[in-house]
Amino acid sequence: MNSDQLFEQAKKYTPGGVHSPVRSFKGLHTTPRFMNRAQGAFITDEENNEYIDFCMSFGPLILGHKNQDVLEKAKAALENGWSFGAAEKYSLELAQYIVDRIDHIEQIRFMNSGTEAVMTAIRLARGATGRNKIIKFNGCYHGHMDQMLIKAGSGLAGEVEASSKGVTPSTAQDTLVCELGNLEEVREVVKANPDIAAIFIEPLPANNGLLPQTIEYLKGLREICNESGALLVFDEVISGFRTSFGGMAQDTGITPDIVTYGKVIGGGFPVGAVAGKKDIMELLAPVGGVYQAGTLSANPVAMVAGLATLKQLDDNFYEKLNQNAQAIVEIFKDWMSQNGFEDYEIVQYKSLFWPVPAKAPKAANQIPANLLERFNELFKVCLEKGIYLSPNGYEIGFVSAAHDQAVQEELKKRLWS
Ligand SMILES: *Cc1c(COP(=O)(O)O)cnc(C)c1O
Repeated sequence: MNSDQLFEQAKKYTPGGVHSPVRSFKGLHTTPRFMNRAQGAFITDEENNEYIDFCMSFGPLILGHKNQDVLEKAKAALENGWSFGAAEKYSLELAQYIVDRIDHIEQIRFMNSGTEAVMTAIRLARGATGRNKIIKFNGCYHGHMDQMLIKAGSGLAGEVEASSKGVTPSTAQDTLVCELGNLEEVREVVKANPDIAAIFIEPLPANNGLLPQTIEYLKGLREICNESGALLVFDEVISGFRTSFGGMAQDTGITPDIVTYGKVIGGGFPVGAVAGKKDIMELLAPVGGVYQAGTLSANPVAMVAGLATLKQLDDNFYEKLNQNAQAIVEIFKDWMSQNGFEDYEIVQYKSLFWPVPAKAPKAANQIPANLLERFNELFKVCLEKGIYLSPNGYEIGFVSAAHDQAVQEELKKRLWS
């Protein structure tokens, strides 16, 4: 069956035919490609069309698809069994490796997804402070738990509403939403609400376009937290191990109280994590009274794959990775400026990039209204040329170590064909 036939079948058995909404290509006026296999920087669909992949599973695959070392280690781990539901050394090795290399964390707890990690961080922050409310920012994504599916209300300032059906008003009222880049607003909200347990931010907002913030702004949030007793939570599910081993905390020199990880930490296997200093982390059960658990948490195969991935991420690795991204962005820019996408800029931070038909926005409310309409054209043209962008204008592009010079040449060839 080809992708169109598979999509028809899938829609019978699964809502919208997919297990995560953005995969459905909704709004792109076309049907999703059903992917069959992948290698390096390339992904191949059921019809045997091969694409240069810039979605890369939305971030985990920093080494590229099917890295040989990760494959071998995961296979070897499988031979020992794939779930114990018991204490084991695989997670110890990964925890040790991470904690030894990241100054601002002393302990880490593994779970299965970024959503779980943030969900736990919310409970942990509340448990640590005895406070109820949290602040998040318009344009940051933190997973699909109720407390984070909240947007700024259309009415009075400070009013919020759920961004999804099924979220109760009483849950929504404990999440306050601020605009990125405006410290004054955060100060006012914190002043008016002594009950703030934590400020949650993607220190590199990368889920609603790429909206890099200034160091001064992030430092300002740190100060507001210090003054008010709220915790600062860096959601580094995308940026952790990606912008550098220690993520944006390392890049900015700002120490968050709690960090959440996902994506790269599992090298493409399901892993999320919460990390921080020992005094906060040991509030988690079984030491402390903040409950958290998981049947499949710290799955041994995922732990081994994560460790095999992270062990490849040295300074030399990041230098090459960022060079790959720089070259790829230049290639896209050059082509776009002469092929009907002159109104585009490409926002880039290290190995992450985002084509946007406007001057680079600094906050979600500056993203142009015609983004999706313009993106449709770009996406379709690229797809036909064998280039797979993340299938939504608000999603960013991911470059991996496998997007090397040979792939860059191939990209050039395909774009200009
Ligand atoms: C992807 C992401 C999440 C959610 O992670 P899942 O593994 O999809 O549940 C949370 N926060 C950020 C910043 C993310 O990029």
